Amino acid sequence: MPRLVVVTTGGTIATSADAEGVLRPARAGAELAAGLGVEVIDVCNVDSSQLTPADWLRIAAAVGDAAAGGADGIVVTHGTDSMEETALWLDLTYDADAPVVLTGAAHSDDAPDADGPANLRDALIVAGSAGARGLGALICFAGSVRAPLGTTKVGGPSLFAGTPPLGVVRDGEFTLGAGKQRPYLGRPVAGCRVDIVSAYPGADGVAIDAFIDVGARGLVVEAMGAGNAGAPVVEAVRRACARGVAVAVSTRVPAGGAGAAYGPGHDLVAAGAVMVPRLRASQARVLLMAALALELPVVDVVTRWG
Ligand code: ASP
Repeated sequence: MPRLVVVTTGGTIATSADAEGVLRPARAGAELAAGLGVEVIDVCNVDSSQLTPADWLRIAAAVGDAAAGGADGIVVTHGTDSMEETALWLDLTYDADAPVVLTGAAHSDDAPDADGPANLRDALIVAGSAGARGLGALICFAGSVRAPLGTTKVGGPSLFAGTPPLGVVRDGEFTLGAGKQRPYLGRPVAGCRVDIVSAYPGADGVAIDAFIDVGARGLVVEAMGAGNAGAPVVEAVRRACARGVAVAVSTRVPAGGAGAAYGPGHDLVAAGAVMVPRLRASQARVLLMAALALELPVVDVVTRWG
């Protein structure tokens, strides 16, 4: 029997409705994992919108300790709202062989159609399977297993998309259909401030200047179309880059990437920004934060993994 550890953080998988019908995390790890024969580490029990980069470090430390302590696989239970951020942070910063499988639920634990127990069982199957060894962090949800990089919450029955699944869990077995490149960058001991600003018709540079004034070391501009922004945003990006701030440009187009094809995108690159070829702003921020925290060349990291 593989030795499995469940690290809990909260999310819908741990929620039940309170007296007013509001969904709040209420179940501790021991309840979620009762009868499953696994060890449990409770890191926190919160809606995942409340997590911060400091929490990513705490979750990563719990995962690292479990792996160093001899776990064959680790499951992290997590809210789906920010699973794409935590999963990517883990994939960028964890390099042991034991797989780390994040899962959650679309329906609360007290709902008649609660999906958390089945998702948790699937995630444990993946975490304990030989085929997942060495794959790093994975997201397992509704029977699909995906790499974190590029995976985003989209709603609908499978909840996550953005990348094709690497494999599936069916009839108690994990089948891997595709290989995975691990984007491991290193082990940062702290995060750093990276903010996201939206570019939209009429946007000015106020938000960019304000983020830099409070100490942002990096910015992700969520641009329009193929990576375009109005002239005041381009000018603010130029000021930011001149002050040593790393600026990455992603796009608000759900299935698009950013490039310098049009004039404004070209001007953003000339101002010192780097284009994010694929990732949504949420994950471009995580990538930029890890690169800055590890003092890696931002252009190389964003161009390769973004
Ligand atoms: N608000 C919840 C969370 O992210 C949603 C979920 O878990 O599906 O914590």
